[in-house]
Amino acid sequence: MPELPEVETVRRGLERHLVGRRITEVEVGRERVVRRTSREALIDGLTNTTVVAADRRGKYLLLPLDSGDSMMIHLRMSGQVLLADGGADRPAHTHVVMHLDDGREAWYVDPRTFGEVVVYAPDRVDIELPGVAALGVDPIADEFPREQLRRIVRSTGKALKPLLLDQTIIAGIGNIYADETLHRARLRPDRPANTIDAAATWRLHAAIVDILTASIDAGGSTLGDAQYVDLMGEGGSYQDDHRVYARAGERCSTCGRGWIRRTVSAGRGTHFCPVCQR
Ligand SMILES: [Zn+2]
Repeated sequence: MPELPEVETVRRGLERHLVGRRITEVEVGRERVVRRTSREALIDGLTNTTVVAADRRGKYLLLPLDSGDSMMIHLRMSGQVLLADGGADRPAHTHVVMHLDDGREAWYVDPRTFGEVVVYAPDRVDIELPGVAALGVDPIADEFPREQLRRIVRSTGKALKPLLLDQTIIAGIGNIYADETLHRARLRPDRPANTIDAAATWRLHAAIVDILTASIDAGGSTLGDAQYVDLMGEGGSYQDDHRVYARAGERCSTCGRGWIRRTVSAGRGTHFCPVCQR
């Protein structure tokens, strides 16, 4: 499932290739991707508009249009945005096609169809997209001083893993980066947040920022099953740097002593080293 680094990589591709382009025609296949509104609303909202910026909040892509509305794209489990030459053969599960004024096409492809594409009014975001309006701090797009994380962890006895996954507190971290971040910070996923001291909080803050930044630089993580790719269809390489995620049963490469363990926490597979993480 694409998380902040993967969505940011897609955002950078959109900034480069879609911003400044006019959308001349829109085709919508499967209506489930426009379930929040309708096929007609997406076609009417995008046709003959120009994309003026490519922003991101957490795992959401937000693209302001010259009409005053914005387009939101949420990739969820298996969504992809691909750029192609006009008339190119479309892959299976291409649900939205945007024809661009430079002759190219932008495709929204989604085998599992959990994702969505919608046009919304930014001044009504709290009504039209409450999930976006409720997002917490974005550790890359926003100022994220370490004192803010200190306030967050002191405010709750919730375990660290579900705390990091809560999009209304910190936006953009999913299962992979929660596990990698807690490993880097040497903190157990089930450790209650308000039991960590200032030094551990600073380690956690540095781990969040450094791991997300390194993954963005690597183009994100592409796993065997999830098939995340960027706008040009290229996978990322940060999966090669994962220390714990999907490495259950392997020796920990950080301490060289522990064996990576997998547990299930709140229905999510959780990976950690019982020796380095306390
Ligand atoms: Zn270890």
